[in-house]
Amino acid sequence: MDRTTIDFGIDLGTTNSEIAVFKGGDVEVIKNNANEEFTPSVVWIRDNRLIVGRNAKQQLFVDPDNVHAEFKLRMGTSEEFAFKRSGRRLRPEELSAEVLKSLRADVKQRLGEDVEAAVITVPADFDLPQNQATSKAAKLAGFQESPLLTEPAAAALAYGFKSKDDKVFWLVFDFGGGTFDAALVQLRDGQIDVVNHGGDNQLGGKLIDWAIVDQLLAPEVARRNALSDFRRGNPRWSAAFAKLKLNAEAAKIGLSREEATDIYVDPLCKDDRDQDVTFEFELKRRDVEKLIDPFAERAINICRKVLQEANLKPGAVEKLILVGGPTMTPYLRDRLSDRKSGLGIPMEFSVDPLTIVARGAAIFAGSQPLKREAAPRPAAAGTYGLELVYDRVTHDPEPPFTGKLSAAGNAGFAGFTVEIVNPGAKPVWRSGRISVPPNGAFIGSLWMQEGLQVNTFQIELKDAAGFAKEVEPKEIRVSWGNVIVVPLAHSVGVAMANGETDFFVAKNAELPAQRRQVHRTVRDIKKGAGAGLRIPVVEGQSPKADRNRLIGTIEIQAADIKRDLPAGSEVEITIKIDKSRLVTSKAYVPDLDQEFESVLQLERKEVPVDQLEKDIEFARGRLAALRAKAAESGDDPGFRKAQQAIGRVDGERMMSEVDEMYRNARISKEEADKCNQRLQHLNLALDEAEDALQWPQLKTKVDEFVTFMHKIVNEFGKPEEKARAAALERDCRAALGRDAAVVEQKLKEISRLTGVVWPRDPGYWVAWFQELSSLTVPLKDPALAERLFNRGRMAIDDGDLPGLKAVIEQLLPLLPKKVQEEQENRHGGGTQSTGS
Ligand code: ADP
Ligand code: MG
Repeated sequence: MDRTTIDFGIDLGTTNSEIAVFKGGDVEVIKNNANEEFTPSVVWIRDNRLIVGRNAKQQLFVDPDNVHAEFKLRMGTSEEFAFKRSGRRLRPEELSAEVLKSLRADVKQRLGEDVEAAVITVPADFDLPQNQATSKAAKLAGFQESPLLTEPAAAALAYGFKSKDDKVFWLVFDFGGGTFDAALVQLRDGQIDVVNHGGDNQLGGKLIDWAIVDQLLAPEVARRNALSDFRRGNPRWSAAFAKLKLNAEAAKIGLSREEATDIYVDPLCKDDRDQDVTFEFELKRRDVEKLIDPFAERAINICRKVLQEANLKPGAVEKLILVGGPTMTPYLRDRLSDRKSGLGIPMEFSVDPLTIVARGAAIFAGSQPLKREAAPRPAAAGTYGLELVYDRVTHDPEPPFTGKLSAAGNAGFAGFTVEIVNPGAKPVWRSGRISVPPNGAFIGSLWMQEGLQVNTFQIELKDAAGFAKEVEPKEIRVSWGNVIVVPLAHSVGVAMANGETDFFVAKNAELPAQRRQVHRTVRDIKKGAGAGLRIPVVEGQSPKADRNRLIGTIEIQAADIKRDLPAGSEVEITIKIDKSRLVTSKAYVPDLDQEFESVLQLERKEVPVDQLEKDIEFARGRLAALRAKAAESGDDPGFRKAQQAIGRVDGERMMSEVDEMYRNARISKEEADKCNQRLQHLNLALDEAEDALQWPQLKTKVDEFVTFMHKIVNEFGKPEEKARAAALERDCRAALGRDAAVVEQKLKEISRLTGVVWPRDPGYWVAWFQELSSLTVPLKDPALAERLFNRGRMAIDDGDLPGLKAVIEQLLPLLPKKVQEEQENRHGGGTQSTGS
């Protein structure tokens, strides 16, 4: 089939993957060989055959050395998955490519078509290396084009397509097998905008499965049988645990419909006396609900934060859109709809939560023109070619077009008419017959149905006698507006030598985005020798660089520079993020006139387990200290906010989760990484509490600064400075109790303003002079200094301000270098304005 738009959409999931195709106003999910709409993202290498999907998933416990699942969680890392028997080692993107190939093969099977382009979805919380790995997987699988779209945006699109609602907010709640996303979307005039989103790519259904195993099944297995050291971390039992997990998952799914379900595993493993162990267990819905609670709470907290950041109350959100298999759990739905402990937003789950993302992706794909236009073909005898020029994306309800008809050979088209039809419009719209003149060229306009994201127009060509003629293309598609805005999930910046983050592109920025900032080197770099320059690139929201996630490094090799670079040299750093969130960087050094391109090496930092242990203990200490401090007392909003942050830590059981994950961290890199990420969440919450507890002090500081600023500015300031002072006070107080970093920033601005105005006060110079005369440091020319001090005292007596300023200026160079610098810095505003 000759396509002009991408049309195919793929949900490349942690647990399951799906492919759907846009078909002139409708979407079809393509079934796989097993006749199912979803394909487990599992790869098994049997001898030399690579098998993807359901059959591979069934091997998870039968042949664990040769099968891998959940590799999406490792996308963007350099980890390799070993397949023992064949000796092959595959990277996460190579495994994902196999899943994509299998979906492509399903399309070939069902539609007989080779898919060359597809929109692929990624979690909103995916970081840059993870996205890059996804694009790579698509390339490996043979896709020529594969724009990325976030999963919640796709889900919203699946409902938007069917909905006639307008001007409302929706919250997409996507609880998948391994990732959680919450996205606030807005429907405006038929367009979908993602207003804000948050998420956690270590939260999903598989955590429920493992909780069932660790807390209900495994203890029971151990209690009933003689099995030494029966725990998940013990390699001897890994096959047994994998079996338990699969059974736990199946039982969990069963509990979405039944109150209780039986688990029967025979054999589970062999006991210490080499006897087969059979395991039978009745799993009750009630028991599992208790386990789900902390995960539900985490998800709900993320939703609340997403709303809060957008200044929205849950009541302002019209619909909660449920996505992902676990949202079929009745308890989760109850929790979500609860007014108090949930979100209290009406839920929507009429579109199948397992395939909704692929459906939305296909709808999006239907509006994306292929980059490679189909080559214009000479019309075969008896058929006609139509060259249509029109905007594929439009704001115009009646977009114009031009057309030119051509015929094969010397067949003419005297008396021919063209009619364009929009069958999706209500009522069906027809252009009316347009007569084709002898040169074949004509013009007209289309008619777009409001609320229908993608309009498909059919072209009807008739000859003079009114008989239909073959024409290519037979239909065209036009979409409304900028179909979708896909903002950046996290801010991206660089870590500076002082431990702070310098943000280049802010969260929610529209992509593509690019920013250039000048930095300075902090130490000498010798040509050719030793370390060059390494600037860590991070992703996250914290002003503290090490709280963010390291996603790569901008590197300039010492061997590559033309000559030595002294400390303090300028480096212009450019970070560019494209629509698919791929990041590239440039570092330009003006002094060398050298540019270092694509030096950004994406990598994920792996934490050594010993370091992890230390970090955990440090966090535990901090939590205890902050808990004590927050409990002390106080009605200050700071205390309340700190208590809230600590309440979140407790409610989500963050500390004990970190401890649980740490237990497995020594045996698996994935668990270590998970543990570290959860620890970062904990640290963020602790940072929040710590900042909030500073507020009472910060408030005192603000009061002092503001009072002094007004005193000085009221007396010596110009009108515009008085207005500025009032604005600064307002901004500063508004940030109090909300954002400590903003308060600090405003305080800096307040000192700067005060520093500019204060030197107009003669008292400023008198005070400075007195400070200088009370210094006990040795002066360079004591005799000259003595004369200057005398002259200064006389100037004060005479009220001679210029004289006093001149004395201070001459005194400064007599101080020891360090003291002089310190004085000049502290009175920066003063020295600058001496000349004015
Ligand atoms: P992903 O997006 O990560 O691929 P999916 O949306 O396919 O995830 O969901 C997979 C998860 O959904 C698995 O953890 C699976 O156990 C769970 N799941 C599937 N169906 C149900 C159900 N009916 N009730 C509860 N959980 C379910
Ligand atoms: Mg999913």
